[in-house]
Amino acid sequence: MTADKDTAYQRLKNRIMLLSRGITLPPRHWWIPVRHIQSFYGGAGPRGRIYFISYGGNEDNVSEMISLPIYPKNHYLARYAFPAKRDKKNIHNLLIENGIKLIGRCPTKAREMKLSDGRSVGKTGLINVHCYGTYSTTASWDCRYFDNKEQCKYCTIDLTKKWIDTTNLSDKYIVEALKLTYDNSKIRSVTITGGTEGTPEETVRHLINLTEKVQERVAISIHVQFEPISDYGLFKELSRHVDSVGIFLEIFDEDIRKRICPGKGRVPKEKYFENWKEAVKIFGRGKVGTSCLLGFGESYGHILKDIEECIKLGVVVMPLLIRVGSPYLGKRFIPSYIGKEDALLDFHIKVAQLLIENDLGVEIGKVSGCIGCMGCSAIMEACQYVRIRNNNIT
Ligand code: SF4
Repeated sequence: MTADKDTAYQRLKNRIMLLSRGITLPPRHWWIPVRHIQSFYGGAGPRGRIYFISYGGNEDNVSEMISLPIYPKNHYLARYAFPAKRDKKNIHNLLIENGIKLIGRCPTKAREMKLSDGRSVGKTGLINVHCYGTYSTTASWDCRYFDNKEQCKYCTIDLTKKWIDTTNLSDKYIVEALKLTYDNSKIRSVTITGGTEGTPEETVRHLINLTEKVQERVAISIHVQFEPISDYGLFKELSRHVDSVGIFLEIFDEDIRKRICPGKGRVPKEKYFENWKEAVKIFGRGKVGTSCLLGFGESYGHILKDIEECIKLGVVVMPLLIRVGSPYLGKRFIPSYIGKEDALLDFHIKVAQLLIENDLGVEIGKVSGCIGCMGCSAIMEACQYVRIRNNNIT
């Protein structure tokens, strides 16, 4: 093994461990307890606070970003997590045992700014800068499955709690917040996600309208996510404004998918395959993605067959680790990958190998939105490792 290959492997392993286990922190002051910091507002996706990773303590030369959960010490998952402490020189940076330093990110100046109606943007919840300059926003908080009490069981959104003023979610304010952030920070692309409003077709029509408005104000590449549709003509319309799409199967094991996603799981898997195929015709290979959510006791060997078929169509598969916090998973749900990270690592390498064989290896910023980010996955690092390994073999 060359040093580069070793380094790439070690970084992949570190990332898998950090994503799987998260970190714990002592309180900053004894009277302020550490909050359980992870993203509460969604299904799959960023798992918590976003950091740059610095190896060897060099803060000026950081290339990797990560979103990972932070547990208070009394959290039931804290016993698996890596103890971290605050860097005395800069409390926004964290030091983990084994020499990894997590560098905190400055919030965008746009947070202090105001929307046209005078409200401070930071308070609207509309600014979400994710990893690698990817901005993320939600087109709608409606979810037809939630309304029917068939919501995906991993989803941490509780729509019965009116914690967000949904008037924020008008297209007008979504575009304004994005424009302010774009003008005041370095963002490369936007991911627009959300629940399914009415029908998937209605959702896509809304996305077409919204992305047209975004394009008029902000010169940014756009990635959108939605459920499978039946009217494939909408892909063509959408492609006028959007560079890439996510049509998320979520879970590749059928039994688990039906159990965990009682509503969405009724959409036949074949419909996803059909949609991926049609979407690839319009957007191109590598510009259509799907999530592959892990942690429910799935067998990697079993799901790899469908994953391979999906990748051969030209679809980028994004392995994501379940984030805990949904009451529907049970109070002390322990994701099945915890303690079995060697198998998880091996699975990532196999998926990365398939992506690379099919010329779909992901790279930072190469495609819009999540596909060019992968800050909440380890697949980017797995692809980096597999590229180096394969070059060494040939
Ligand atoms: S891949 Fe990047 S943009 Fe997409 S949800 Fe994860 S951190 Fe956000």
